[in-house]
Amino acid sequence: MKCDPTLYRAAPPSLAVKPRLIRHLFLPPLVIALMIGLGYIGFWVSEHYGIRSLSENGQRQLELHARAVESEISKYTYLPSLLELESSVSKLLDDPTPETRQTVNDYLEGLNRRSRSRAIYVMDTTGRVLATSNWRDVDSYLGEDLSFRAYFQNAVRGQPGRFYGIGSTNGEPGYYLAHGLEEHGKIIGVAVVKVRLEAMEERWQRARLEAFVSDENGIIILSSDPARRLKSVVPLSDETKEKLARSLQYYWFPLNELQPLARETLAEGVEKLTFPANSELASDDQDITYLAQTRPLSDTPWNFTLLTPLADLRREAINQGILVAVAFALVAFLLIAWNERRKVIATRLAAREALQEANNQLERRITERTTDLRASNERLKGQIRERRQAEETLRRAQDELVQAGKLAAIGQMSTSIAHELNQPLAALRTLSGNTVRFLERGQLDVASTNLKTINELIDRMGRITASLRSFARRGDDKGQASLGKAVDAALQLLNSRMECAHLDLHRDFKDVQVQIDQTRLEQILVNLIGNALDAMQSQPLPELWLEGEEYDGKYRLRVRDNGHGIDAEARKHLFEPFFTTKPGAQGLGLGLTLSASLAAATGGHLGVEHPASGGTTFVLSLPLVSPIPAEPI
Ligand code: ADP
Repeated sequence: MKCDPTLYRAAPPSLAVKPRLIRHLFLPPLVIALMIGLGYIGFWVSEHYGIRSLSENGQRQLELHARAVESEISKYTYLPSLLELESSVSKLLDDPTPETRQTVNDYLEGLNRRSRSRAIYVMDTTGRVLATSNWRDVDSYLGEDLSFRAYFQNAVRGQPGRFYGIGSTNGEPGYYLAHGLEEHGKIIGVAVVKVRLEAMEERWQRARLEAFVSDENGIIILSSDPARRLKSVVPLSDETKEKLARSLQYYWFPLNELQPLARETLAEGVEKLTFPANSELASDDQDITYLAQTRPLSDTPWNFTLLTPLADLRREAINQGILVAVAFALVAFLLIAWNERRKVIATRLAAREALQEANNQLERRITERTTDLRASNERLKGQIRERRQAEETLRRAQDELVQAGKLAAIGQMSTSIAHELNQPLAALRTLSGNTVRFLERGQLDVASTNLKTINELIDRMGRITASLRSFARRGDDKGQASLGKAVDAALQLLNSRMECAHLDLHRDFKDVQVQIDQTRLEQILVNLIGNALDAMQSQPLPELWLEGEEYDGKYRLRVRDNGHGIDAEARKHLFEPFFTTKPGAQGLGLGLTLSASLAAATGGHLGVEHPASGGTTFVLSLPLVSPIPAEPI
């Protein structure tokens, strides 16, 4: 099988390895970089939209709680101005007698109790406290000079005094609302209400709300977290700090600044603040980030700030980022796996196509070879037919040759037969004539003896003709013959010649049954013994040996003579038809040829040996009918 190598040859190593190497080197870092990048984008988007959503939600919360603070504050704004209506207050400011003072004290005490404020007091225009609701307390404001207070200074000028500060008497924080009390268009005194706003802080804490209120100085005056209280949300200049210290607004508190680690303005009034882990604002060991939404409170210079922790949102955003990164990694992995699988399938398809192509080529070649084989088979069949026909022709020629050989042998033998028959016939004529004369003379004994001799001669003549008939008869390839009988029949036929030659015959073989027609065996033996007799014609002491032996399922009979032997040139042509060394009509040159072919036709063989001692040995091998050897005869 041959495939086109250019079709399936792999790419040169330099071209095949490089892209794969590049892919393997750069793909993992690229995927990791993309994972990190997309994860960060996922985190950023999630945080951004989370903050926006929180911001929207916080805006509502901010509005709600800012309103609550406003209403809490505004509910006291009218209270100081009410004192303008109270005649005892005007009287006290006009003429501060002990009786009037006590009357006003009692009035203010009752009013304070009903309004649930911290304290209500009245000052003259110099800033001295003339009457107060807490006149019974040890740390009462009565007689105190509070002219340094900013709320007094504003109110005495006819402006509303709003002030958050720490009480200079008892250090208690509070919201001070002051109002200039007018009479006939002139300010005669100042009424002040001090309110505690801590209830709001408690409310925020209960609601788990993180919020604070910063005043006009940026100082946190109310906070859900006490740690943030009285801290400044803006940097304070030294001048401001000095001014505030002088006014004792915040008593002697240090007014530290809230220092965020990071501050990012997202929109107006919306900031992202991060406080360090070790600050008193961070509840645990981690930096804490808030979304700070601030809104000014109406009627005051204050701001309300709502703090929303972003830790949960950040955690959520980190999770989202991780999710995006993992999803990308999964998609990337699936894409890579899909790509690899696609390549494997493509390679498999190419291999399958190559295999299919190779298979097709193989089938084409097989078909071609089969056609060739069929043609050569047909040729071989034709040759076999021709051979068979030739064999048949040869067989017919052989049969005809056998027949011709027989006829030739008959012709050859006819002389000796005639001689054989003429002799007894001459003897018969003489004997019969003598017998007639002996009968006429009455010599019956002699006549009887003659008649017996005549009978014997006739029997002998009958045997000769019988041998001749059996010799001439066409034989059969199959059949079985007795070696002993065949030798006897051959010797009988050649008897006269043997007697003339005074042959010394040696028999040393068994009367075995061999696979050959009886007549054919006799014919072979007549040829071999006849040739031996011819070769020994000039031998003074002719000897013939007939020796047998069993060998490998066959019986081997050696016909050996001590004749003149065969010269080297004649040995080459012995079994060729019509080869003869005999003069004139004595030899036809068919005897050995026919004998060899008769032996071969039954699976036997005829060969020749040339003993060193002289003479010739013909070896006739014939298949045995039965392997049991017969007794020697
Ligand atoms: P033919 O007897 O008619 O010549 P054969 O085929 O029987 O034909 O023999 C061929 C030749 O083989 C003979 O002419 C003879 O020269 C030689 N030959 C055969 N048998 C013997 C033998 N026993 N000794 C010597 N020569 C032999």
